[in-house]
Amino acid sequence: MKKVLMIGLDGATFSLLNSLMNDGVMPFLKNFLSQGVYGDLMSTSNPLTPPAWTSTITGRSPEVHGIYDFLHPEASGDNVFLKFNDSRNIRCETLWSIANRQGKRVTSLNFYGMSPPIPVDGYLISGFVPWKHLRSATHPPSLFDTLKALPNFNYKHLGMDVSEEKKCIQGLESNEYEKWIHTHSLRTQAWADVLCHLMETDPTELTAIVFDSPDKLQHLFWRFLDPQLYKNYTSSQDLHIRELCLNHYRELDSIIERIVNLAGENTNVVMTSDHGFGATTEVVYINEWLSKNGFLQWSETTQTNGDGKLTPDRMKEHLMMIDWKNSVAYCPTPSSNAIYIKNSNDSDKGIKDADYAEFCYQLKQQLLDYRNPADGEQIFVNVELNQAKINKQPCIEYSPDMIVKLRDGGFVSIVKSEDVVIPRKDPEGTHRPNGIFIARGEDINPQQQVEPLSILDVTPILLHLLGLAVPKDLEGKVPPEIIAESSLKNFPIKYQGKTQALGANNNKKEVSNEEKDALMDQLKLLGYMD
Ligand SMILES: [Zn+2]
Repeated sequence: MKKVLMIGLDGATFSLLNSLMNDGVMPFLKNFLSQGVYGDLMSTSNPLTPPAWTSTITGRSPEVHGIYDFLHPEASGDNVFLKFNDSRNIRCETLWSIANRQGKRVTSLNFYGMSPPIPVDGYLISGFVPWKHLRSATHPPSLFDTLKALPNFNYKHLGMDVSEEKKCIQGLESNEYEKWIHTHSLRTQAWADVLCHLMETDPTELTAIVFDSPDKLQHLFWRFLDPQLYKNYTSSQDLHIRELCLNHYRELDSIIERIVNLAGENTNVVMTSDHGFGATTEVVYINEWLSKNGFLQWSETTQTNGDGKLTPDRMKEHLMMIDWKNSVAYCPTPSSNAIYIKNSNDSDKGIKDADYAEFCYQLKQQLLDYRNPADGEQIFVNVELNQAKINKQPCIEYSPDMIVKLRDGGFVSIVKSEDVVIPRKDPEGTHRPNGIFIARGEDINPQQQVEPLSILDVTPILLHLLGLAVPKDLEGKVPPEIIAESSLKNFPIKYQGKTQALGANNNKKEVSNEEKDALMDQLKLLGYMD
């Protein structure tokens, strides 16, 4: 049976890739796409890296896999604490395990939230890990020593450098832009080197990797890249940064070429992103809106802040910003775009179960009715309620009570502000729901563009291309139009069996000191999306 190579491009979007392909920046990708099938890939309802990649590799929505964000809130009496999500918070079977159970070995590199490493038959290194914790994010452990000993290879480049990422959060000076791009070039190259090493020495049936640099560059430099915006930025420094970014996409194109060629002719190749990208032009202070409308009380000592950035230093204080005793609804993290409602069991001010649904409907309406005083326009264009909670069905205990969509597609700020909405000085990059799906291979229908696919379809597609049955309890499907007709005849799409329930141990979290240390370092990386 055929092998499958999956290349994840974090934050990749056709609104940018099309111009990069047409302008000759990504010639390999252009040619690849012309021989295969492509379409938009619709992300999770909050199009954020953790829930979206977890849905990619489970075929389940956040309501089932349990990963909504980098962190999740836990109420304790009046107070609320934030806890990190890691691989033990994933509540359902992963693609790696489904494939392993059916006899296929896997290689999984740089996927978000795979640490502590899920033991797989094959190889796995989690992404989003500072370099000093890479050893404990690698399976099998011997792989780490093998990589360390590779000639001309610096394993530290695989990790996230906390001091560097911190700079970005706290505002990157323009003279540091160049170094930032260089750091991400080295990272991308290092992950590609690991992938090629494994493909050459011990190839597995399923090989999957995420390159996260598009997301990292696009957050900061979207205005220099977006075909609609870049012409407004013409200083020599602006043009220089644009050129460095374009160079990175050229490198990425060569890396993709190298990997696809190494995989060989009899490999079906699938490329996906976790979400798309677009511009954000304003900061929306959601907790300030909740405060002005009587749902949230700021602590007396909380300072108003002007730029909406949640720096690591502010993150430390952030739980102190809110007077929990006198608050009933709050947004815990800027990446969640979520509102959580306190329950009367946890707090005197909380909402009684009997009043919950009515409270949610009213709050939703109030958000939708809100108009920005500056232009009279709606800011919260959609509010998605937690239907399981409303219907008193079982759900993940820390699932958000509602998720909001902003008019500019951006993420909220959770800090205190004078006004609810403040325009940004320059547009920045933020996530969009429509990511990319591209595939090419002997079993792929080279029929060009197809209707948008769901991110939930990726696991079923990869399983089918491995020659395996798709468990019936996955939420996605294999869209038959992407599979070549001859292949469909020989290997019809099979839905059969179910995913395996996780053992009782999986949710038990005993956190070692080293893990705590790693979590603290990750905490410093946060605020990234703000
Ligand atoms: Zn992402």
